[in-house]
Amino acid sequence: IKKIGVITSGGDAPGMNAAIRAVVRTCAYLKVECVGIYRGYEGMIDGDFKAMDARSVNNIINKGGTILKSARCAEFRTKEGRQKAYDNLKAAGIDAFVVIGGDGSFNGALIFNKEFDIPIIGIPGTIDNDIFGTSSTVGFDTALNTVVEVIDKIRDTASSHNRLFFVEVMGRDVGHIALNAGVGAGAEEILIPEENLGLERLLESLKRSKASGKSSSIVVVAEGDKTGRNVFELKEYVEEHLPIYDVRVSVLGHLQRGGPPSCFDRVLASRMGVRAVEALLEGKTNLMVGIQDNNIILTPISKAIKGHTKIDKELIRVSEIMTT
Ligand code: ADP
Repeated sequence: IKKIGVITSGGDAPGMNAAIRAVVRTCAYLKVECVGIYRGYEGMIDGDFKAMDARSVNNIINKGGTILKSARCAEFRTKEGRQKAYDNLKAAGIDAFVVIGGDGSFNGALIFNKEFDIPIIGIPGTIDNDIFGTSSTVGFDTALNTVVEVIDKIRDTASSHNRLFFVEVMGRDVGHIALNAGVGAGAEEILIPEENLGLERLLESLKRSKASGKSSSIVVVAEGDKTGRNVFELKEYVEEHLPIYDVRVSVLGHLQRGGPPSCFDRVLASRMGVRAVEALLEGKTNLMVGIQDNNIILTPISKAIKGHTKIDKELIRVSEIMTT
């Protein structure tokens, strides 16, 4: 392998730049050429490439987003699109690539590898932490810190006015952000997709909370929470059944994906980037770099995208005790 491509694809996440930097610098260190592929698979199909050396990634470790840009690309889902992408890689002399993204990007990479036999290694970059084979994805820790910081601010105004806030956080299928940030921010209740807590329990808990003299309440709700109600419907439900509360809603949205990466994510991305390039040079392919018990490990990408991440039951128990 003489030339390695690096690409960010799908939803962006803080720390992707730190991962790009690590891949580029490791290539420079090991004297392999490195090429940045812009705008995800769209840029691969358009041949939007740029040679990168150690100096191309100066001052990006602290920046959110991705300097390579990202995209969702429908054309890559077609055989013709992937053929174009392959022809461009060939023409540019790119022998292998590191893909930084979520399970959609990994799925695309696997299909591409099966068709064209080009070695690929994945780095999990997503705030959702919904990838099997790593206890943490790049961007998750930063998103948690962002959400906790924002909820702290909401709490200030909630308690000044004795209000109840429903705060919606990202997580259509998984509740890792809601559960962790909810515990970290001291939420009264946490509604996630994995467990149905029941609306009755929510009302009971809010009643108890009021009776015990709490001046404000925060309920963290994942987008896909199992009650099947969104934050606005939850507000209506509580107002109807528990009129003692003055209820407000805050939908955090895309701010959760931005901002400078936390130190944890920078270090994680750096370690993963080094391992990804090393793995390619060792002749490995179709693997994802992950972290488990603070060790950097490799897992087949097919397992990473098919295996389900489990919600932390112990943390659910902690959250229940903390809301007494
Ligand atoms: P993420 O990587 O964050 O999960 P997406 O699910 O949007 O994001 O996937 C990113 C891109 O990966 C898609 O826009 C598409 O180009 C490519 N991709 C995803 N699934 C497939 C697939 N089954 N076949 C080919 N390409 C795919």
